[in-house]
Amino acid sequence: MKYVLVTGGVVSGLGKGVTASSIGVVLKACGLRVTSIKIDPYLNTDAGTMSPFEHGEVFVLDDGGEVDLDLGNYERFLDVTLTKDNNITTGKIFQSVIEKERKGDYLGKTVQVVPHITDAIKDWIESVSAIPVDGKDGPADVCVIELGGTVGDIESMPFIEALRQLSFSVGQDNFCLVHVSLIPVLGVVGEQKTKPTQHSVRELRALGLTPHLLACRSAQPLLENTKEKLSQFCHVPAANILNIHDVPNIWHVPLLLRNQNAHDAILNQLNLLSIAMPPALQ
Ligand code: ADP
Repeated sequence: MKYVLVTGGVVSGLGKGVTASSIGVVLKACGLRVTSIKIDPYLNTDAGTMSPFEHGEVFVLDDGGEVDLDLGNYERFLDVTLTKDNNITTGKIFQSVIEKERKGDYLGKTVQVVPHITDAIKDWIESVSAIPVDGKDGPADVCVIELGGTVGDIESMPFIEALRQLSFSVGQDNFCLVHVSLIPVLGVVGEQKTKPTQHSVRELRALGLTPHLLACRSAQPLLENTKEKLSQFCHVPAANILNIHDVPNIWHVPLLLRNQNAHDAILNQLNLLSIAMPPALQ
């Protein structure tokens, strides 16, 4: 199994869900089978009891799972049918670990965030990514994992650590990290600012994860010198810096990615360039 992890920096609500779904679309257009997992680092076991005013639509899956609205994006963009286990929350992970502890499965050991919670996260990701969601037999080729929240949040730390361990155990040919970040424009001169992204990449690297691609959210397309600066200071090749500027309709986002050859950069990182077909998007 190959994994594409999508993280977010600077602020929440950047469009990680839309970016992750769109990455799935371009990979699917290359002939790959794609599944997805959404991680929500909150303590609710699912989104069923959360106020839609605060959290947006609660999406109900075919198996009755009440989940984050991003899973609706995944189903619509990728034409897949997800299960409630494709949405991991801190609540679900802690519940499963505490149930195991009550049954005595840890054989008297002290149950801790590392390794017990992180192991539960890794096991969950590995078993759910193997479930076929596109009506065909056998596991998908690529699993797109979206980590909700913003890198550096206390809530997401166990997930970041588990994903760091996962990236190490699956090897670099099987793991691609796309970091979604914000490029604000400040002042009347209208300069695109890269510093918030530089800080969030530094934060990610301090936690042991290195981004292979940057997906930069901005109001207007990125200027060439903004891209060069990002490349130099974030240690990401310019060809791997994608610009996802504001578009009138989110269905434009897969096309934005295709036009910037995002599929080539991701397939290259996953050592799949020789297998995949050019994208069939119109
Ligand atoms: P996150 O997963 O980071 O919280 P979402 O994917 O849910 O963010 O997107 C937040 C909002 O931004 C959604 O309403 C989505 O439609 C909108 N959005 C995302 N990307 C774009 C874009 N490139 N242009 C315009 N709106 C966007």
